[in-house]
Amino acid sequence: MAVDLHTHSTASDGSDSPAELVRRAAEAGLTALAIADHDTLDGIEEARAAADRAGIQLIPGTELSLEWDEGGMHLVVLWLEPGPGPLQDRLEELRHGRDGRNERIVERLRGLGVDIDLAEVLDEAGDGSVGRPHIAEVMRRHGFVPDIKTAFDLFLAKGAPAYVDRPRLHPEEGITLARASGGVPILAHPHTLGVDGPGALDAVLERLVDAGLVGIEVLYGSYDTEERQALRAHASRHALLASGGSDYHGIYKPDVALGTGKVGLRVPLSVLDELAAARAHVA
Ligand code: AMP
Ligand code: ZN
Ligand code: FE
Ligand code: FE
Repeated sequence: MAVDLHTHSTASDGSDSPAELVRRAAEAGLTALAIADHDTLDGIEEARAAADRAGIQLIPGTELSLEWDEGGMHLVVLWLEPGPGPLQDRLEELRHGRDGRNERIVERLRGLGVDIDLAEVLDEAGDGSVGRPHIAEVMRRHGFVPDIKTAFDLFLAKGAPAYVDRPRLHPEEGITLARASGGVPILAHPHTLGVDGPGALDAVLERLVDAGLVGIEVLYGSYDTEERQALRAHASRHALLASGGSDYHGIYKPDVALGTGKVGLRVPLSVLDELAAARAHVA
């Protein structure tokens, strides 16, 4: 009995529609799936209908990028229901903040000799929340880079020449809004925080736990045994629950498989059970 608590659909920067994603999860033998599209809950209704048909559990969610200078701080919020609510009401402005940013990224790219069109990027994103993976795919299609990862490494990643920031929620604000909306806030892929050295992650976790953080991704799609053990120790020191998911994006992350990630990930159902029990105490 395995689950995947971090995936993306065409509602943001995944390549499978919500219904396809659910169908693949059922085929892969997963008993539960969380969809955590960036800044949107637009895929949830379709996914839920598909999950009912397939007989698997669908956990509605989103993934937020929070204000954090040292690197990327992402928050996966599970059990966030579509409709009005304290966090739900902020998602539209967060998506809107991507619009101006995408224009500026494309302008910068053109200044660097990477001549792509914003219209093609918007077309690549379809109805979904637009993200850098869509830009990277258009760059790849036109032969400016061999693959999406290279587009990030050379142009789009934080610190690279075409990187442009966008408005984000502060960490405390994101966590507080998540809980006030009945969601369970989980720190995603802690390695992207950009903190290292003894005690550095502990200091960050202390701050986030004070704000109400509930879980941390220990079983992430790319973590080896050693990384998982280190994160499990952090989780227990800070009384955080361990969460787990692949961060599947379909073609936008070709080396990450649904359920199993890059390195034979397996997230047992007990991980979901513990998070579900904590859900009763968030609001
Ligand atoms: P955005 O929402 O525009 O900030 O883009 C964030 C998304 O870009 C993440 O969810 C990942 O899917 C992807 N991403 C970030 N960094 C990288 C990277 N170095 N290589 C490939 N994909 C990345
Ligand atoms: Zn993404
Ligand atoms: Fe993320
Ligand atoms: Fe993600």
